[in-house]
Amino acid sequence: MAEKALSKSALSVLKGVAHPPSVNPNLKQIKRRNLSVSDYIEGILAGDRTILGRSITLVESNLFKHIEQAQRIIEGCLPHAGKSIRIGITGVPGVGKSSFIESIGTYLTSSGNKLAVLAIDPSSERSKGSILGDKTRMVTLSAQPEAFIRPSPAAGTLGGVARKTRESILLCEAAGYDIIFVETVGVGQSETAVHSMVDFFLLLMLSGAGDELQGIKRGIMEMADMLVITKADGSNIETARHAAAEYSSALHMFPASDSGWKPIVLICSAQYNTGMEQIWEQILEYKKYTTSNGFFESQRKKQALYWMHETIRENLITNFYGNSKIRKRLDKLNDNVLNNRMSSFIAAQQILEFYFAKK
Ligand code: GDP
Repeated sequence: MAEKALSKSALSVLKGVAHPPSVNPNLKQIKRRNLSVSDYIEGILAGDRTILGRSITLVESNLFKHIEQAQRIIEGCLPHAGKSIRIGITGVPGVGKSSFIESIGTYLTSSGNKLAVLAIDPSSERSKGSILGDKTRMVTLSAQPEAFIRPSPAAGTLGGVARKTRESILLCEAAGYDIIFVETVGVGQSETAVHSMVDFFLLLMLSGAGDELQGIKRGIMEMADMLVITKADGSNIETARHAAAEYSSALHMFPASDSGWKPIVLICSAQYNTGMEQIWEQILEYKKYTTSNGFFESQRKKQALYWMHETIRENLITNFYGNSKIRKRLDKLNDNVLNNRMSSFIAAQQILEFYFAKK
């Protein structure tokens, strides 16, 4: 009786359709299983995105156990890495980086490419929802099976964050991604780090933002292989064209780059998806040009050496400052130097001698 009454009430629940599980059941299975290094390598080589994501988590971890595992995974993937074009993308916040990546990325994946988007943002902290890690960005692109989007590793030293991104590039390549974007915010030192891990460096610029080059340092402009003026739509098209012409003549003043390639300036609109094809054509042209003159290969070799030395530097520093005996002695030395009881040079020498004698 009560049931009958309820079925007519506004509180009754329609039978409806069963909810699909909120999490992919296969994913759960994988999650429960502890993967061995060879499981990881096999998964990556088979293009398994979940396993790729988990491997990158290991690369990003600071736990000794994970670091060791990650290095073995990278080693296994290395022979299968390298077959991509790595593109650095930078520009001040608000210039339209994520809209641009969404637009050109969708164009690229729909024309048969596999694209991985990584980021370097040393200031980011995941818990605070960093600009580069924001999940609401690149909605269309992240829904594509041919795209893999990963936010920046959590905050740390720039060297540390950059090394993690560089290692993630290798894993993405082994997983079959033939185009890698590395995005960074155009405000600090991170451009140099990105530049040391990509083949092509693309700088996004706004038009009509004054002569100040929008806080983009000259050094960053000199690194660029291509400048793209964003938001060239509506009443902004003419200003964009004008800015492109101005930047183009400004670039002529810069010394020629080692690659022999003359940087070009283009315009685009991510909102209307215009200019993307032309930008991509020029990037391919760059690849063809630098492959034929040997620069592409020689730059990659230089970068590999650079990263070896960066890793040595980073490890030495972590090991040194992480040592409790060193930290105790440093406190005393700091005091001595601050109170003019010891010169900086002698203090440094003394602690380094202690460190190396101890080894
Ligand atoms: P980011 O901070 O560099 O990643 O920039 P966003 O991609 O988040 O874009 C910043 C703002 O510019 C947003 O409000 C976008 O809607 C807008 N925007 C981005 N691309 C275009 C474009 O092609 N045309 C126009 N009119 N606005 C754009």
